[in-house]
Amino acid sequence: MMGNNGKKVGYFEPLLADRKEQQFNGVSKMSSRPQFFAKLRILFENACDVLPIMTTAIFSHPDCKRHEMGSWHPECPERLEAIEDQLIAGRVDSCIEHREAPAAAIQDIARIHDAAAIAMVRDHIPSPAPQGQNSSSCTPAHAGYYPIDADTILNEYSWKAALRAAGAAVAATDAVIAGEIDNAFCAIRPPGHHARPSGAMGFCLFNNVAIAARHALDVHGLQRVAIIDFDVHHGNGTEEAFADDPRVLMVSFFQHPFYPYSGADSTSRRHENMVNVPVPAYTGGAAVRELVRDKWMPALHAHRPEMIFISAGFDAHREDDLGQMGLVEADYAWITAQIMVVAEQYSKGRIVSCLEGGYNLSALGRSVLAHLKVLAGLD
Ligand SMILES: [Zn+2]
Repeated sequence: MMGNNGKKVGYFEPLLADRKEQQFNGVSKMSSRPQFFAKLRILFENACDVLPIMTTAIFSHPDCKRHEMGSWHPECPERLEAIEDQLIAGRVDSCIEHREAPAAAIQDIARIHDAAAIAMVRDHIPSPAPQGQNSSSCTPAHAGYYPIDADTILNEYSWKAALRAAGAAVAATDAVIAGEIDNAFCAIRPPGHHARPSGAMGFCLFNNVAIAARHALDVHGLQRVAIIDFDVHHGNGTEEAFADDPRVLMVSFFQHPFYPYSGADSTSRRHENMVNVPVPAYTGGAAVRELVRDKWMPALHAHRPEMIFISAGFDAHREDDLGQMGLVEADYAWITAQIMVVAEQYSKGRIVSCLEGGYNLSALGRSVLAHLKVLAGLD
């Protein structure tokens, strides 16, 4: 997009021009002290080429890299390292705040999951693998792992990681609602959107986004929130948690027919608050942008969400082997910009984005970089 002076202008820059003006002209008056000093630090370190328009934070925790399900498993700790590497290489890492995720309280998780689902994870954490037997030689049948199902597996750190992942989403929600930051990205694993209220599923232990959305509704008293899921797989767990809850609008697209083989049947179509758009394999960016404009946007404008949560899976990328869709980084940037326009209009800019899928390490890192640059107003 080109501005009047021929300079490249970000997707949502016209909309945020006033806000940017305020930020540059009156940063000490407009911002809280931590934000002010964070921006000063950025200025003096000269680490960023430009001052971010938004105050964006990444929430994560080292325990999220200690949960692993065997060296064969695509949902691996290296995913978070790939994201970190790309943020550094893209000169974005030092422009955004980093916060350590607290462990979620059990009562936070219990707003979505029943006691048996929580106990299934907590009570089956295995002992460490025996000395000399590292993870690369282990399969789920070896000591050190407990398989919940064929591809959802616990190791000794999984409980802690799951608490930190859900805790990141909850803490990000608190920080955004408190106005400490404009928006947040939770660089977390295990992912969450397949986890059903009744139990773990599809690499997911607890449904991080659902827990955060319910927290915003029940603890902060918001009346309406939206959940946007652009993972290549249907977020069946999130749909189950909020089906027919008029406070929550969920919009998504997903490859179909494909795992988990839900979301496109007559049962789903009966839930008026679910805008599911199943798409065939090999759907590319142009068709996705069209469905976002035609299906998602009218529903989001009608719902007027006070806060937006994103199930940010990047496995619809054309380089990702776990899906067969054709998105590229520019599509994720475009989708993020559309979400920001809705958030600015109805939600005071409040967005909490949580990592879901994305298994090609390079494509994942590049796509998260594109997503975060738009969230932070750096693109
Ligand atoms: Zn996925």
